[in-house]
Amino acid sequence: MDLKSLIRDVPDFPKPGILFRDLTTLLQNQAGLRYVVDQLVEKHRHDGLDYVAGIESRGFIFGAPLAYHLGAGFIPLRKPGKLCRPVYSVEYTLEYGSDRLEMHQDAIQPGQRVLIVDDLIATGGTAAAAAGLMAQASAELHGFAFIVELADLGGRAKLPDVPITTLVTY
Ligand code: AMP
Repeated sequence: MDLKSLIRDVPDFPKPGILFRDLTTLLQNQAGLRYVVDQLVEKHRHDGLDYVAGIESRGFIFGAPLAYHLGAGFIPLRKPGKLCRPVYSVEYTLEYGSDRLEMHQDAIQPGQRVLIVDDLIATGGTAAAAAGLMAQASAELHGFAFIVELADLGGRAKLPDVPITTLVTY
């Protein structure tokens, strides 16, 4: 399937100079949504995962159906202040300023196998922060899965040396 034809390119959003890859057009396409979830399931069927950890917010959309089909649990990695019990927390730098990702401390037991999912990897800062949460929890980070990779930004160099699944590369 030609996924690029289902992804909308929006110049200068959210800021001048950014070419935003809008996945809402892929999500609303019945065949497209089914295809990307099926592809992720196929690639991770034999990973023996305990959990899929989705990065807020678009990582939730793809991570939850993936976890369901793999028979794994789903863990939300959230923006600051959203979780109700004690959290692990990793700060990361954005182009302007910084942000934080958080995960409940009791979400994962040491050694449990986790796949981190997001819609897109750009600079890799967000996914690297998610990996930092797994390290704090002593989880076994099995790998990462993204629908889209913006290869020019070199994000994968920021990630630990584990398998990375991507379905579309720009
Ligand atoms: P990064 O931390 O730079 O890898 O950025 C990844 C996060 O920002 C993902 O959660 C994406 O949803 C979002 N993102 C960054 N750049 C883009 C882009 N050009 N188009 C769509 N989403 C983006």
